[in-house]
Amino acid sequence: MIRPILIHPDPRLKKVCPPVESITDEIRALGRDMLDTMYDAPGVGLAGPQIGVMKRIITMDCTKDPEAAPQPMVLVNPEITWSSDEGSTYEEGCLSIPDQYAEVERPARVRVRWTDLEGQEREQEFDGLWATCVQHEIDHLNGKLFIDHIGPLKRQMITRKMQKLKRDRARDPA
Ligand code: ZN
Repeated sequence: MIRPILIHPDPRLKKVCPPVESITDEIRALGRDMLDTMYDAPGVGLAGPQIGVMKRIITMDCTKDPEAAPQPMVLVNPEITWSSDEGSTYEEGCLSIPDQYAEVERPARVRVRWTDLEGQEREQEFDGLWATCVQHEIDHLNGKLFIDHIGPLKRQMITRKMQKLKRDRARDPA
């Protein structure tokens, strides 16, 4: 089921989410809904708070080649256990901040530990777009957006554009 995506500014996008306590059918259904919502958008990553679910759960698929098989991932309680000293700059966007992009520097590689939907502990190293994406999504679980990594002037400009977008949408729901 596709869920509506919250648009910045929204207080739910500024909150630290508590961990998921156990993998239940409800969590598995949430993971499926988040993947459906992410692919429909379309986007490469989505975090629980972006659909108003204040839980530490993210989905990702950073497969770039449209011909390649999809690689859907659902990460519950993801935690960065190591990050590289080497950085990488990527022009980031966000489904909660439509059509706005800015360069953000983050560690180029990270190791992440999480629980999968079978309740198994997993740990994996990510690089390239996957590394950027997993850090961006984990930020969401801590109430942080990619615009919190950029200068205040550009951040305010983007926030004003989003306020206008929300006003326009409220007036004329598509
Ligand atoms: Zn985002």
